[in-house]
Amino acid sequence: MEISFKGKTALVTGATKGIGREIAKQLVKCGADVIATGRSQSDLDSLKEECPSIQTISVDLKDWNATRDALKTIDNIDLLVNNAGVALLEPILDISEANIDQSFAVNLKSMINLTQIVGKSLIQRKVPGSIVNVSSQASMRAVQDHAVYCATKAAVDAFTKVSALEFGPHGIRVNCVNPTVVMTDMGRIGWSDPAKADPFRERIPLKRFAEVSEVVDAVLFLLSDKATMISGSCLPIDGGCLAV
Ligand code: NDP
Repeated sequence: MEISFKGKTALVTGATKGIGREIAKQLVKCGADVIATGRSQSDLDSLKEECPSIQTISVDLKDWNATRDALKTIDNIDLLVNNAGVALLEPILDISEANIDQSFAVNLKSMINLTQIVGKSLIQRKVPGSIVNVSSQASMRAVQDHAVYCATKAAVDAFTKVSALEFGPHGIRVNCVNPTVVMTDMGRIGWSDPAKADPFRERIPLKRFAEVSEVVDAVLFLLSDKATMISGSCLPIDGGCLAV
């Protein structure tokens, strides 16, 4: 199945590292004009070296107005991938207010901000669009020390469904993907210890964690015109974990 994004402009958040970086690179390979955001200027620079056609924007998505400022000259986005995220792990009794605020600001509030920016522009321009939000298996399963993270991702699933409802009449599809553990920088923080990782992996029918490419493929499929009747879905990329 060949996917082409020729003539489309895609914005990917959290494109400096991990899953987002690979989504940005694969979108370029499929012909899209890509705008990549992140905070780390050196990571954005190295991404630009790898893929010179990518436009990079350094912005802290926690800052609502700075995000709007950074994107104010861009009004041609067709595809949005809300991928940026943080996982700040604490047992419930130790959760700090600062970590709650940061987690919701990056994982949910920035997604609402970008969805408004891109959604308004798509509706005004009367063009169809596709948005994919990167949620997590943790939106639907309890995971030790992940209470705030799980809550942000459950909110992402709910936000995705309401976005699909409100944007559907404008020809804009909105979906999310819900991966299990992927060994990126974020994955390594939570799952490097075999004492924790092994029993968790054992619960997955396929008995392994997900690869970055497996998440990227699902995101590209949902963005593409191979998925024109799919909207409001939360697609597990979890080796069957949520099914059992
Ligand atoms: P990484 O930690 O590798 O990358 C996170 C990305 O988010 C980076 O590009 C980072 O940019 C960006 N980011 C974080 N905070 C901010 C901020 N305040 N402003 C702007 N950008 C920010 O994570 P992954 O690639 O693993 O995760 C990507 C998505 O996948 C996340 O939403 C995560 O929750 C989700 N996910 C990950 C899983 C995993 O096991 N890895 C499993 C399920 C879901 P910078 O470093 O430049 O600040």
